[in-house]
Parts: sequence; C-alpha cells; structure tokens
Amino acid sequence: MATPRTRWLFAGQLGPLFDDGGPILLVEARSVFARRPMHRAKAHLILSAMRHRVRELGDRVEYRQVDRFDEVVDGRDDLEVIDPTSWAARRFVRERGMRVLPSRGFITSEADFRDWADSRGGKRLLMEDFYRTVRERTGLLMEGAAPVGGQWNYDHDNREPPPKGAARLGLPDPWWPVEDDIDEQARADLDRWERDGLITLVGDDGPRRFAATADEARRALDDFVESRLMDFGPFEDATLSGDWTMAHSLLSAPMNLGLLDPRIVVDEAVAAYDRGDAPLSSVEGFVRQIAGWRDYMWHLYWYLGESYPTDHNALEATEPLPEAFVQLDPDRIEANCLSETVDGLRRHGWAHHIQRLMVLGNWSLQRGYDPLELNHWFTGMFVDGTPWVMPANVIGMSQHADGGIVATKPYAAGGAYINRMSDYCGGCRFDPKVRLGENACPFTAGYWAFLDRNQQRLAGNSRMRRPLAGLRGLSDLEVVVDQERRRDTW
Ligand code: FAD
Ligand code: SF4
Repeated sequence: MATPRTRWLFAGQLGPLFDDGGPILLVEARSVFARRPMHRAKAHLILSAMRHRVRELGDRVEYRQVDRFDEVVDGRDDLEVIDPTSWAARRFVRERGMRVLPSRGFITSEADFRDWADSRGGKRLLMEDFYRTVRERTGLLMEGAAPVGGQWNYDHDNREPPPKGAARLGLPDPWWPVEDDIDEQARADLDRWERDGLITLVGDDGPRRFAATADEARRALDDFVESRLMDFGPFEDATLSGDWTMAHSLLSAPMNLGLLDPRIVVDEAVAAYDRGDAPLSSVEGFVRQIAGWRDYMWHLYWYLGESYPTDHNALEATEPLPEAFVQLDPDRIEANCLSETVDGLRRHGWAHHIQRLMVLGNWSLQRGYDPLELNHWFTGMFVDGTPWVMPANVIGMSQHADGGIVATKPYAAGGAYINRMSDYCGGCRFDPKVRLGENACPFTAGYWAFLDRNQQRLAGNSRMRRPLAGLRGLSDLEVVVDQERRRDTW
C-alpha cells in the first residue's frame, strides 16, 4: 500500500475541516511576520493558533520553525495541500508540483461560483443575486422555493441607530478565551524577534480576545448565538464608544484561520431561529454576512485576478498613510470617531464593519490615501486580515478604486451619517453640522472636498447625480475646499 501523503496545512487551515486523518506538516515561517508591520495581537493569534494545533495533533504532525517555507518543502515529493488562500501561495505549491485538493472553508465551492458567473456571461455579478442563489442551492432559510418569511432581505428592519442615551447595548460580555503557556511563549517569542530587529509590530497585545482553537471557536459561536445574535440585525450598523463589540460575532478571525466551518456557523444561527430564540431579521442579516458577503468576497478575489489591487486606482489617490494610522496612535487624532476607532484597533486588532467602512475607509477615501498602501495596512493591522479578504473590501468597496466593479458608488459620507449611527459626535470638538471654520467637522467638509476633487471622475455614475447636484448648490464650496486642502488638525 502506498504511504499516505503528508498534508501541509497553512495558517488558514487549522481546524478539523482541513484534516482527513493522515500525517500533517505545519511550518512556522518567520518571514510571514516580517513582510510588513503587523499588529501584535494578530501575530500573537496566528502563532498561538498554529502552536495549539501542533499540540492537539501530537505525533501526527511534523512541526518546523524556520525562516522561510522553502527551507522545509523544497525537494520533497510527499506533500499535498488543500488549495491555499492567496495567489502567491497557490503559485508556490504549483511550482513545486505538490498535489492540490480543492479549497475548503466556505459555504460554496469555487466551481459553484464559476457556474454562477458563467450563467450570467460574467456580467452583473451582484452580491444580492449571488446570495439568493446560495440560499436556493443550500436550502438555508428556505421553505421549498421561497425564502422563509416570504422575503429575501430584512434590511429595513435592521440598521437602527444605537439606543438614545445608552452607553452600551446592555448585552452580556462576550465569552473570552483564557490564555495558557502557549500564549505566553508566543508573546515572548514575538518580543524577542522584535528586539532582534526581525519583525515590526504595532499596537497592543492585551489579553487574547479571539479563538485560537476549534474548541474555543465553538464556545465563541455558542456564546454569540445565545447572547448577541438576537440583537445582531437591529444594531448591525450602530456604534457606541463604550461598547467595542456591540452585537457582533467576533467570528471572522476563527473562520479565516479555518478553526470554524462557516456552514456550521450559519446552521447554528438558523437553528436559533427555528427554536424561536432569535428573530428572522437578525438571523437573515447574519446569514447574509457569511453565506453572502464572506463567500462573495472570497470568490471575487479569484475572479478579479491577482493584479486587481495593483491595476486599479480609478480616483487617482496617491496620499501616503498618516503616522497616526501607521503607528495606531489615537493621540494624534482630534476627530472623536476616528480617534476612538484607531484606539480600538490599537487595543484589539479589530473594529466592526461600520468602523472599518464608514470611519476608517470613508476617511481614507475622502483624504485620497493610496488604495494599495491602505490595503496592506488593513491586512497587517486586523486580526482577521488575509490577502483574499482585503482587495474587494478595500480597493473595491471602501475606496472605489476599481471605478465601480464591486460597489456601484463610493461609500463617502459626511458627519451627519456618523452622528446618526453613533454617539461619537457628542464627545467631539468638531460639529457634524458645520463645514466651515474652527468647528468644521473634517468628515462633513471632507465629503464636499472629496466630491469636488472627483466630480469629473464620478459624473457618469447615475447614483452620484444627487450628491453632485448638491455640490453645485454649495455657495461656499471654494472656501470649504481650500480649508480642507490646508487642514492640519483632524
Ligand atoms: P459580524 O458583524 O459578526 O459578521 C459576521 C461575519 O460575516 C463576519 O465574521 C465575516 O466572516 C462575514 N462578513 C461580513 N461582511 C463581510 C465582508 N464584507 N467580507 C468578508 N466577510 C464578511 N472581514 C474579514 O474577515 N477580514 C478582514 O480583514 C476584513 N477587512 C475589512 C475591511 C474593510 C475596509 C471592510 C469594509 C470590511 C472588512 N471585513 C473584513 C468585513 C467585515 O467588516 C468583518 O468581517 C467583520 O467586521 C468582522 O467582525 P465580526 O466577525 O464580528 O463580524
Ligand atoms: Fe467625527 Fe465629525 Fe462627529 Fe467629530 S463631529 S465625531 S469628526 S463625524
């Protein structure tokens, strides 16, 4: 009988879904941490998850700690891989002739997406249409051919502002992992590598907040379903300064590490609805995030091609990232919404979707930061950042650098949106209603300056007709634009 191949597992493949029982190779390559500055909490989480997996696998694993992957895998002909999650890794394994199995870790397969995209001739690949096809094919939240409850989408029941006057949503604290000797060693190793000048780390490495094992991920999932899922929908887009997790699941990191099967995650949410423990609007909203958005972004990574991030800069944005971003230093920022978000990111290596899209992304879009640089920054600074998840989210959705392939219009908004959906403005030295003068909100004024700078580029976009008409009606536009050009405090 032929000896079984050794399966080389990558850092996104650390859970049971990627293990079929044979011998395993895990390689901890220090070069991965040295490519660009990385958040401490992220480096810690990856090391911790990998080393916990090594301990779990015991004799079945060959564990190597080296500088570069090729030191271990070059010259070997016994390796197989589950198709890895980046263009670079896929090239690496193919160049070495390894056996490649189809990717796992998503609700739909890459072949499913290709069929769907081909069936539309590669045109109008809208998330909403993809999501409905996924529901139909998987039977998730379906009654025969119809969506449960008669509607595909419950967005109108969701997306409420935060409760007035509340400092927190009032939900129980999420379940937190308890650190062990592996975490302690991971932290010590990272400190040493940093001291030796081998890696650059940013941000705090407070207590580890994200699951590093499949067991921990399961506990985090159960806790979310029990105590926060019911409020997920209504407060999906809301922000409170005193409540960093709101009703979010914190499951992106364990899912992206491969510790948690997304199909199990959505099945558990649907089971909560079936038991009457969570309303349909919240459950559908959550299922949409995973079976819709997460799978869609994954497939777009391959569909849009390896050069998508470097090929696109439709708004010709070239500003370098400010030190406040690079160093995760909230003290350099006066705008309360931005300062609080950067502070949360510094502490946890995580921010929720609206902070990513409507605070960090919106600000970067308005200020014309280089989209590729921003893409790298997001990848390094977020515990759940991976090469596959970022391009469609950052280059496409948040920076509109692809000219409208992923999102039909730029996610640009002034202070009024932030004021409606958060409690940030009350504690800010700027005023969201003011666009000129000392108190002018840099988001409100920045919004008009952004539109002014890009009006030619956006003129053909029918969804931008109204904002551009608003721009032309501003009597003080020239002074506002000039003010923002000179702005040195924000
Ligand atoms: P929840 O709010 O509880 O949502 C549930 C799950 O839905 C998430 O865990 C995630 O797996 C999935 N999801 C929802 N939206 C998206 C999306 N647009 N793309 C991919 N998955 C989605 N997600 C990442 O996994 N890694 C990232 O590095 C990342 N960076 C982002 C950067 C920007 C600029 C934007 C706009 C979005 C980004 N997202 C990223 C998507 C989303 O913001 C995060 O998945 C979410 O905030 C993670 O927190 P959570 O697990 O509590 O999510
Ligand atoms: Fe942010 Fe403007 Fe509100 Fe201040 S006033 S918190 S800068 S939106």
